[in-house]
Amino acid sequence: MERITGKIVLRTGRAKPIKNRHPWIFSGAVERTEGNPGPGDLVSIHDHGNNYLAIGYYNPASQILARVLTWDSVRAIDESFWRERIKTAVKGRALLSSNNATDSFRLIFAESDGLPGLIVDRYGEYLVLQCLTLGIDQRKEMLVQMLVDLLKPVGIFERSDGKVRKKEGLSKIAGLLHGKSPPVNLIIKENGRQFLVDVHHGHKTGFYLDQRYNRALLMQPKLVARKSLLNVFSYTGGFSVYAASAEAGKITNVDSSIPVLELAERNIALNGFNRSEDEYLAGDAFEVLRHLLDNSQDYDIVIMDPPKFVHSRKNLTRASRGYKDLNLLGMRLLCRGGLMLTFSCSGLVSEELFQRIIFAAALDSGRDVQIIQRLGQSSDHPVAVTFPEAAYLKGFICRVW
Ligand code: SAH
Repeated sequence: MERITGKIVLRTGRAKPIKNRHPWIFSGAVERTEGNPGPGDLVSIHDHGNNYLAIGYYNPASQILARVLTWDSVRAIDESFWRERIKTAVKGRALLSSNNATDSFRLIFAESDGLPGLIVDRYGEYLVLQCLTLGIDQRKEMLVQMLVDLLKPVGIFERSDGKVRKKEGLSKIAGLLHGKSPPVNLIIKENGRQFLVDVHHGHKTGFYLDQRYNRALLMQPKLVARKSLLNVFSYTGGFSVYAASAEAGKITNVDSSIPVLELAERNIALNGFNRSEDEYLAGDAFEVLRHLLDNSQDYDIVIMDPPKFVHSRKNLTRASRGYKDLNLLGMRLLCRGGLMLTFSCSGLVSEELFQRIIFAAALDSGRDVQIIQRLGQSSDHPVAVTFPEAAYLKGFICRVW
């Protein structure tokens, strides 16, 4: 059992979010820290009147001074606590685990699974782990052993090399944690399609697992067959592979990275498609789209899945303009009655704001735009209702007249 070495007392009037089971204790809400907790230690959290609220792990280097593990005053934080949380997260993916057409998905989604800071993605027989916080980083060895005992993966690889670690005072780290190293040309299965995934160097943990549901929408031949498709920010061709299997017409992939476009082309071939008419355009999306527009190109379907534009509230206005310009270009490139699948993965852009951005782009384009479907992240990226921040991916299917 882990010892509680400190106590955090909140300022007056700052206990409500914690009582409502939001797991973050911001340093600005804290009146004082008692005892002498070390970085990563367990602390108890109390309201201004010294009433117990929760137990969490502590990081004095972070603006989030503590993250709650439990609100239960009698629940000890011991190995069985962590094991139960992992088991529950795995249980929540039972439907996916028993689906033979898909072998890769998110097993643990941090705060939403009661395991703040821990991401575990399954790629076939391998696991890829991200420790986003100091509290998880310190308990990594134990957590890896539990994952080994419970899931018996062939290997566990760490990709704790995202930017967010800096906010926790942690440096970037990546490498093998257990068993065999996943091959750089690992082949995974998603809805019966195959994809090469490089978990060593790919974005995030290798693949955008959060888009699985949205990619599957393109499996409908009636929607896609013989249609020309522009896949902007294509990455390794996720949407394009699905479109090819639904017999799309010419597919134009756009991405700023040449290696990912090469992988996209290999993924098309891997699934048995011979599509010499497709295009792979390397360059900045804004420039490439303007160029296509200058050449009077138009498309039946445009997909737009840009990287995160908003990294802090400070650049929300500028980033919103970026989203607007991009969607305006997308609308202009669509033929009458064409479809646009447009996304934002910036947590700070709410669905409401994103809809206002699409509205502004529609006004400027002079086109009539209808939202025909609202989209989000796949079910393996659940949103705990007490932690709405987990809902980061939003999208619309728009019909553009
Ligand atoms: N839809 C993809 C994921 C897209 S991720 C899927 O389903 O797998 C975002 C992609 O945008 C990355 O591949 C990145 O290389 C690319 N990117 C980032 N900035 C870009 C820019 N300015 N122009 C074009 N592509 C860009």
